[in-house]
Amino acid sequence: MPELEGKRALITGGARGQGAAAARLFVASGARVMVADVLDTEGAALVAELGPSALFVHLDVTSEQSWAAVAQLVLEQWGGLDVLVNNAGILRAAALENMSLLDYQQVIAVNQVGCFLGMQAAIAPMRAAGGGSIVNISSVAGLKGVPGVMGYVASKWAIRGMSKAAAMELGPDHIRVNSVHPGAIDTDMINGPDFAAVDRSAHFSVLPVPRIGRPDEVAQLVAFLASDASSYCTGGEFLIDGGELAGSTRVPTEP
Ligand code: NAD
Repeated sequence: MPELEGKRALITGGARGQGAAAARLFVASGARVMVADVLDTEGAALVAELGPSALFVHLDVTSEQSWAAVAQLVLEQWGGLDVLVNNAGILRAAALENMSLLDYQQVIAVNQVGCFLGMQAAIAPMRAAGGGSIVNISSVAGLKGVPGVMGYVASKWAIRGMSKAAAMELGPDHIRVNSVHPGAIDTDMINGPDFAAVDRSAHFSVLPVPRIGRPDEVAQLVAFLASDASSYCTGGEFLIDGGELAGSTRVPTEP
């Protein structure tokens, strides 16, 4: 079990999926957690399940005003912040030539601008805590090209670079910043109609770990980066993909 006793953590997109799995593990590991999301019903149900160590706050990560209000709430409730997980994300699928500008911009707004605003809002409460850990959820799509999700790829590459730049800026404040790069994880994000036509068995059967990933597996990595066990890790990119990026499984026809 990761050691998060006494940590005060804010998890965006925490109402379901990987964010909810992180919230569950964080509370079980001794942390207090603020679940921040636009899904009020799911968020309220989750914190009711988690008990007094968890509370829900409505947050649209694209809104600077919402972030200012949440940062203020964190300071009022807790006096400081030890961990921010920038996990909120959306995905829109379409071929490049068909993708609408609106879809592209919405993905950038939530995934990339949301991460920017979140890191910015966390600085003062983390300074008040004497330091902290920011964990930004990118993707394997932040390490390679993926066709059909241009805005998503752009945003996830951005998060990877922003994490390194922030790590360099915030090191003097004892704030560590790392990015996490999951492969395909079994959540609502990839279980919708956009991916209904994808042959899952063909995709997963060739992985070194030949299955889809689980949210609780990603939560373990996020908790490690949130905890003091990762005290020498900053500016790093942490892959959790069942070996998807280990190499190509295609046998070359030419030497
Ligand atoms: P999910 O769709 O279940 O969860 C995303 C959460 O973000 C939801 O609770 C949603 O309400 C919230 N959200 C969306 N827009 C928001 C906004 N404007 N403000 C606040 N919250 C908002 O999917 P997930 O798989 O749990 O995704 C979590 C993160 O992991 C995302 O950043 C995603 O891009 C990333 N990721 C997912 C996969 C995967 O295969 N599922 C792979 C790599 C990375």
